Amino acid sequence: MNYKIAVIKGDGIGPEIVDEATKVLEVIGEKYGHSFAFTNVLMGGCAIDATGVPLPDETVKICKESDSVLLGAVGGPKWDTLPGHLRPEKGLLGIRAALGLYANLRPAVLYAPLKDACLLKPETVQDGLDILIVRELTGGIYFGERGRRDGKNGPEAYDTECYSVPEIERIAHVAFEAARKRKKKLASVDKANVLESSRLWRETIHRLAKDYPDVECRDVLVDNAAMQLVRDPGQFDVLVTSNMFGDILSDEASMITGSIGMLPSASLGKGKLGLYEPTHGSAPDIAGQGKANPIATIISAGMMLRYAFDLQTEADAIDAAVLSVLKKGLRTPDIAGVGGQNKPLTTTEMGDAIRAELRA
Ligand code: NAD
Repeated sequence: MNYKIAVIKGDGIGPEIVDEATKVLEVIGEKYGHSFAFTNVLMGGCAIDATGVPLPDETVKICKESDSVLLGAVGGPKWDTLPGHLRPEKGLLGIRAALGLYANLRPAVLYAPLKDACLLKPETVQDGLDILIVRELTGGIYFGERGRRDGKNGPEAYDTECYSVPEIERIAHVAFEAARKRKKKLASVDKANVLESSRLWRETIHRLAKDYPDVECRDVLVDNAAMQLVRDPGQFDVLVTSNMFGDILSDEASMITGSIGMLPSASLGKGKLGLYEPTHGSAPDIAGQGKANPIATIISAGMMLRYAFDLQTEADAIDAAVLSVLKKGLRTPDIAGVGGQNKPLTTTEMGDAIRAELRA
């Protein structure tokens, strides 16, 4: 099969990690008889530098014409002082909205060879961890009405959390379906004791739960969820939550699993066109130094094979290759302290090791 993939390398470590992932896809193509046509497009800080805007129309057009989109990360201190509508992150929010990507799937898996990287006590994580956070991506406070105004005590600023019933329903369906394919346990995370938007969220989840009698569904307040994730993460299978709560909880889950450099994500909409990216940002502190861990991006490419192209064997091969290099003790600096060899690998060396496993 031939697949057209739009590639947004972005800023900071983005180009380094994306190159490793596209080279992995090329190996998959050679091994399993597929061809991947990559088209590089601009977004984020590099797009601002080249075109004056974080998300050029051309980028949206090429992404829409592609079968899938692979993204590194955007942003960095160079663009931090620009006004809100010109910030690199605006590109990120814009592309998600333009492609109608309302569901963000963030698996948090603690690989057995990295067990020591988990900050929790061994008895807390026991046999490892496998949690899926389903985050609503195009609604809530990140997209609500916002502004500044003169208040009683001088200038003030506001952002608005707003969810409609259809927005909650569609993300809930994604989460219930995902739970059905896993351990059939869903935790819906909200702040219904305080927020009206959370009360609507909860009512809607309860109504839909009746359509999924095989899935055990419960409500968890977000502050409790944050606590339970470090107290007893094994109690969770799938968590579904709003845009902002999901943003925060998935970063928390990332630390349970060792390094943010290990965590992939998939952003899905109605059709097959999705956006696959690591959970982390552009890591400007280590950009250009060969220190970035490419594994999150490589597993994100694997998720693309699984969700966008239905290539389960090929996706399994990527997961197995990653596990295999970790078992051999190969590590990038972010995970170097964890049962690995003494000298950490560079970004490219880690990519090479994974590709060698795939070819073996
Ligand atoms: P970050 O995720 O970029 O970095 C946080 C820490 O994790 C840093 O110490 C970094 O070196 C480390 N890290 C991240 N990815 C790593 C990897 N693959 N390998 C090894 N170490 C890694 O978060 P930040 O520092 O808060 O943000 C930096 C920039 O990225 C900001 O401009 C922010 O807006 C942007 N950002 C972009 C995205 C995205 O494009 N999806 C997401 C989050 C943040």
